[in-house]
This record gives sequence, C-alpha cells and structure tokens, in this order.
Amino acid sequence: MENIDKLKAFLSEPKQLVIIPHQKPDADALGSAHGLSLFLQKKGHSVQIISPTDYPQFLAWMPQDDKIIVYKDKNKDQIDKIFEQSDMVFCLDFSELSRCKPLDIYLTDYKKPITLIDHHRGTPGMADYKLWDINAAATAELIYDFIGLLEGQDDIDIPIAECIYAGLMTDTGSFKHPSTSSKVHRIAAELMDLGMNAARVHNLVYDNNSENKLRLLGHALLNCLVVKQDVGAAYFLLSQDDLKRFDFRTGDSEGLVNYALSIQGIQFAATIIDHGDSIRCSFRSIGNFSVADFARQHFEGGGHFNASGGIIRGEFKDAATKFEDAVAQHAKELKSYL
Ligand code: 5GP
Ligand code: MN
Repeated sequence: MENIDKLKAFLSEPKQLVIIPHQKPDADALGSAHGLSLFLQKKGHSVQIISPTDYPQFLAWMPQDDKIIVYKDKNKDQIDKIFEQSDMVFCLDFSELSRCKPLDIYLTDYKKPITLIDHHRGTPGMADYKLWDINAAATAELIYDFIGLLEGQDDIDIPIAECIYAGLMTDTGSFKHPSTSSKVHRIAAELMDLGMNAARVHNLVYDNNSENKLRLLGHALLNCLVVKQDVGAAYFLLSQDDLKRFDFRTGDSEGLVNYALSIQGIQFAATIIDHGDSIRCSFRSIGNFSVADFARQHFEGGGHFNASGGIIRGEFKDAATKFEDAVAQHAKELKSYL
C-alpha cells in the first residue's frame, strides 16, 4: 500500500467506518469483513458492516453476525444516514463497483476516502487507498497483511483469527488450489499458534449442510449434469423448478461446480442457475484456460484466472445454447489442454 502512512494518521483518531463485502458474500468476503471490523473496533473505531445482499446461513456463526445490516429497500433511510455520517468506507473482496450493487450508488457519490482490499482482477478505480494483489490467495490474507501494516499483529485474537482462517480455507479450496502459497500456510500456522481451533472452523463451514442442500446435490449430479468430453467441459443446468423442489437457499449451490471439474478429462466447468430474477453462472478451470476472461468476454462477469462468475441475459430455455456457443468459440484452446 503506497500511502499507508497517510492512512495510519487518518486511523489514529476514532472514526466512523463502514465495511462492505461483495454481493452474496462468501466466507472470504464476510470473514474479511468481520475480522477487519473486530480489529478496527479494538483500535477505538465504530464500525458498521453493510452487506449488499443476503448470504449463506452457514456463515452466521461469525462473531458479529447480529450487527450486520443487509441492504433491503426498507433499510434505505438507515443506510443513507450511516454512509452520510461515516468517515471512510472499506470495500472488501471486490474490485468492480457493480459487484456491490445496490450499494454502488453510495460509492460513486462518496465524498470521503475509500479503502479497497482485494485479490480479484479488475479496475479498482474508486479507491483512495488500495491493498490489491491478484496473487493473494484470499482477501483474508490481505486483511492479515493490513493488520500487520497497521502494527496491530498483537491485536489478533481468536475471533479475528477464525475469521481470517475461514477466508483462507475457503478461497484456497481447503488449502489445495495452486494459490495456496507457503505464506498462506505460514499465516494459518500463526493463527493456530494463537490457540485458534482450525478443526472448529472447518466444521462450522463445511459440516453445516441442510438436508435440502444435499438432496439438491444428489439431484444435480444425477439429472442436471452435462458432460462434453470432446472439449473437456462439463456443466450443471439448474432451473427454477429444480430450486423450488429443494427449497433453494443462498449458498446451497456453493461447491457444486467443483464436482463437474473433478471429472476425469474435464478442465473447464460451469453452473448455470435460474434464480428467477437472473441467470447466474459460476466458472472454474484447471490449468491455462482463463475463466475470468471467458466470463468477461461472454457473460458480463469476471473474477480470478481459475474461478469466475457472470450472468446470462434472456430466457432460461436459451441459456444452455448460449453457453455451449461460447464454449465452442474456445474449443481449439480447450482441446489443446486435453
Ligand atoms: P462464485 O462462482 O464462487 O460465485 O465466484 C467465483 C469468483 O468469481 C469469486 O471470486 C467471485 O467474486 C467472482 N465473481 C462471481 N461472479 C462475478 C461477476 O458477475 N462479476 C465479477 N467481476 N466477478 C464475479
Ligand atoms: Mn476472495
């Protein structure tokens, strides 16, 4: 971070701070928000986390879950006031304004400084202070670094450690993706040395499935999976009826895409899900195919080299064809990795 001394001076007095994660925040976005919030509160600031949308129930164990405000039209007046009275906004785990809709309007008009901490590809133009590293495995890794930059290492307690660990653990696929550097393991070890129970965090995040989520997984594997061995691609197509049948909740499709990616010979996987108001996609790849570029080029999305997302416009009945047409444009490239 270039202007860290200026930021340090700014934070040397108690301030009113707002933290926002991206839409449908995952364990990295929310863990980073909680971890940073707890740390900043220890430093005497008052902090409000505002989430642009709801988030999975299996993240409700995080320390100050009851204090998060989730954007809803009926909260608008309250949120207007919080932004108005705030001295700084922290944007965590996103680099494009559209990723925090409908809170983006507060940032475009914001008169005070914005600090961005993130590891996504993008153009983080809105930030006055940036800790931005696309090689970081998780935003939580950068939160750990940020606390270090503010010389707050000794303030990391077990609740903060658990939040940072949750982000590291999930964004690295439980420490297995290529992004899992020795530094990530070193941070995890430091957190465990503080007395943090890593098994507890794994249990809270991964052993907290609803029955419906598992039944939907079974249904999806059996009935909704399309495998294109000729180009090394596979995808799940889930309709509104599929979601309704299993009483779909936010987070219930998390991890699904990885089952398609785990098939022998498959290097590129996707989920295409009709949420009713939008058709959302998740993309994953192994190796040299950039799904961030694929999402940006075809589906108004973005993300990381091997993990990204986007949306498909139009009717759900045409979604699979649109996706397959996009894949066909990259068939040569995809086949070269087989
Ligand atoms: P997921 O598939 O887990 O929802 O998202 C994978 C990665 O891509 C995450 O890092 C997420 O932040 C990013 N991502 C998902 N959807 C979008 C999108 O519509 N636009 C951009 N820029 N990034 C996305
Ligand atoms: Mn992340």
